[in-house]
Amino acid sequence: RAKALGRARYHVFDPIMYQEAIQLLEIENDLRRAVARQEFIVYYQPIVSLLTGKIAGFEALVRWQHPIRGLILPAEFIPVAEETGLITSINTWVLQSACQQLRLWQHHPAIPDSLTISVNLSARLFSQPNLMAQIDEILYETQVNPENLELEITETVIMENSHAVKTILQQLKERRIKLVMDDFGTGYSSLSYLHSFPLNALKIDKSFVKRMQENQEDMGLVPAMINIADSMGMRAIAEGVETTEQLAQLRSLNCEFAQGFLFSKPIEQQSVLNLLTTAPQW
Ligand code: C2E
Ligand code: MG
Ligand code: MG
Ligand code: MG
Repeated sequence: RAKALGRARYHVFDPIMYQEAIQLLEIENDLRRAVARQEFIVYYQPIVSLLTGKIAGFEALVRWQHPIRGLILPAEFIPVAEETGLITSINTWVLQSACQQLRLWQHHPAIPDSLTISVNLSARLFSQPNLMAQIDEILYETQVNPENLELEITETVIMENSHAVKTILQQLKERRIKLVMDDFGTGYSSLSYLHSFPLNALKIDKSFVKRMQENQEDMGLVPAMINIADSMGMRAIAEGVETTEQLAQLRSLNCEFAQGFLFSKPIEQQSVLNLLTTAPQW
């Protein structure tokens, strides 16, 4: 027993684990300060309609402007933000900024009225009892047209299948906000679940788009995923499109929308107008 305890204790003081714990704590403290000082910035990545070849909308993607380390990508801080609950204030801020931006773009003569903005919603937001009130406040404050707003949720949200989630999604639908299932295919939600939620679109995860090119003959699972979207009356959006071959394959499958580095990386808000006016017809 003493031996077991000793080993357990040795494990606690494992220098590598200790270093990792300290690092995590540092990021957490840093992140708290960042929330207080609003060190975040929203980047925008175009979503292209494969029917028109034009930009139909943008996905809002958060970045952390760290005073010393520079721009930090979500992969490095979203997990910590999720764990600490800081994600709720960060995510609400992103939604608000994206809506403010959308409102400005909707007033711009060179920007089509139909332009949409998609915002990712963390599963954690759905456990906030005042989520709907917060969204309503943002809609009221920004006076944005809710039809141009898309909210991206993950399969985790759907899988809970809770009454609370269903109520919120129904309320979002009543406000004519569009709902998109993000990273479709990577989670464990069943198709019968999907069917019972008011989703407007399925976003095919980039891992499937990547594999599509490797399986030239059958294009992997992408055709099946597009069929699922079609049969449920949802649109299909392909994520992570990097090559013209992938674009041609998606077109041949009648995929309606695509997003990826082929069209553009996520860009700053100031560059959006320029991209809209100079982008080729894909
Ligand atoms: P996501 O929502 O699936 O967003 C797409 C990610 O794929 C973005 O990464 C984007 O930059 C990247 N991407 C786009 N096109 C390509 C491509 O052609 N190839 C490759 N390899 N990657 C591509 P990003 O911006 O680093 O965001 C990562 C994830 O962080 C997002 O995945 C989303 O889950 C999360 N995230 C970002 N912003 C927010 C936010 O405001 N709130 C919440 N809750 N999560 C966010
Ligand atoms: Mg997304
Ligand atoms: Mg995605
Ligand atoms: Mg993804």
